[in-house]
Amino acid sequence: MSVHVVLFTCDLRLHDHPPLAAARAGADEVVPLFVRDQRIGRSGFAVPNRSAFLADCLAGLDAGLRDRGGRLVVRSGDVVAEVCRVVTETGADEVHLAGSPSAYAQSRERRLREELTAQGCRLTVHQEVVHAVAPGAVTPASSDHFAVFTPYFRRWSGHPLRGVLRAPRQVAVPDGIGSESVPRRSAVKGTSPELARGGEKEARARLADWLRGGLDAYADRHDDLAGDATSRLSPHLHFGTLSPVECVQRARGHGGEGADAFVRQVAWRDFHHQVLAARPKASFYDYRTRHDHWRQDAAAEDVAAWKEGRTGYPIVDAAMRQLTQQGWMHNRGRLLAASFLAKTLYTDWRVGARHFLDLLVDGDVANNQLNWQWVAGTGTDTRPNRVLNPVAQARRYDPDGAYVRRWVPELADVEGPAVHRPWTLPDKRRSGLDYPEPIVDLSDALDHFRQARGLN
Ligand SMILES: Cc1cc2nc3c(=O)[nH]c(=O)nc-3n(C[C@H](O)[C@H](O)[C@H](O)COP(=O)(O)OP(=O)(O)OC[C@H]3O[C@@H](n4cnc5c(N)ncnc54)[C@H](O)[C@@H]3O)c2cc1C
Repeated sequence: MSVHVVLFTCDLRLHDHPPLAAARAGADEVVPLFVRDQRIGRSGFAVPNRSAFLADCLAGLDAGLRDRGGRLVVRSGDVVAEVCRVVTETGADEVHLAGSPSAYAQSRERRLREELTAQGCRLTVHQEVVHAVAPGAVTPASSDHFAVFTPYFRRWSGHPLRGVLRAPRQVAVPDGIGSESVPRRSAVKGTSPELARGGEKEARARLADWLRGGLDAYADRHDDLAGDATSRLSPHLHFGTLSPVECVQRARGHGGEGADAFVRQVAWRDFHHQVLAARPKASFYDYRTRHDHWRQDAAAEDVAAWKEGRTGYPIVDAAMRQLTQQGWMHNRGRLLAASFLAKTLYTDWRVGARHFLDLLVDGDVANNQLNWQWVAGTGTDTRPNRVLNPVAQARRYDPDGAYVRRWVPELADVEGPAVHRPWTLPDKRRSGLDYPEPIVDLSDALDHFRQARGLN
């Protein structure tokens, strides 16, 4: 009996899964393996929201495999050592893995290749599992990656996508392989109260609902904060319970302006991944330095107010509270909360990026760090010194104030757009609100930023 191992990482699904399809085609039996990687556990990346969502995904994957006559094998420890152990136990001659761009994933792949080769086992890395278009698949003439989105998107759009693969009907797993029990969501403490559920079933149901009921209006409504009219597929794409190739193919099949706008956003995900694959240090260092000397004075107090959602700017506070409550934030909220920290408070983008990674269920090194850099003006934004004014943003993207009233209960009784400027309410009304005064004056902050960037 020939055996192949499929090492699942951030591709926790059975539909449209090239490594699993290749393993089934190449061997009589397959070991679907997930290793609870002690290095990730120690890195501080395995925060409660993502650990709980991951537990759902693993339970879903195990259930899906059991429906097909198999099961998930779970191990803990050093990922390379555990894969080698499973290879020895089963006599497997090939391991399949999805390619991933982070520095950590690259080093895992290198170590795996070395150790498996020494054991006489092949490693096959499959692209376009985690991405619709793999990092490096399209490049400009003069560089190893695109630094600007628009030309990237043009090339990305013209790149032929592979076909979508069906989920297997059956998965034959060798008998007698030891496995730990699948982690349980209920064992994870400290999660956000309204954290979404994970798992492939959940992901596929959400995608189907989205294609049926949300996609057509996406072009017009994706920035409407209160409307909550985006797909919320990001955690499913992050953990790979949905295939980006399938999302793009099905959206294109649906067609229309909403589909075009949605596909463009999925391309942003690939864009950041190809930047990180080419410049792994961009997860911690400025991609394009602006020689910032980030503010130190009183910064800790301001950062604490920002994290708690008590800056005195209701739209920023609403976004930050959504993050705490749901482990997720609307994209427009992310943009304006990040701009407020990095530009208005002129605080190091890494401080904000860390806080987002501590809470976001879709927290992803490439998309989080590079979006933060985009907002801070140290990344790929072609207008690096733009500053988002939270009051103007609020009027535009939450015109009636419903988003603020939902997330900032202290302001729930303030009607209409007045909720965006509580400091203009009559004194009597204001003194009755348990809501802070603005922690910073916007025009002073803008002057400070412009001076710091040498723009005055
Ligand atoms: C400061 C900041 C931090 C961010 N951190 C993350 C992160 O850690 N993980 C993450 O997945 N996204 C991140 N984003 C991007 C974006 O905000 C989220 O992907 C989006 O809000 C998820 O909601 P949705 O699934 O409803 O998106 P939709 O609007 O429905 O978009 C569909 C999909 O496209 C992708 N996408 C959309 N916008 C972007 C973008 N700007 N960059 C990359 N991919 C995008 C996502 O995979 C998303 O699920 C960040 C954005 C900012 C400004």
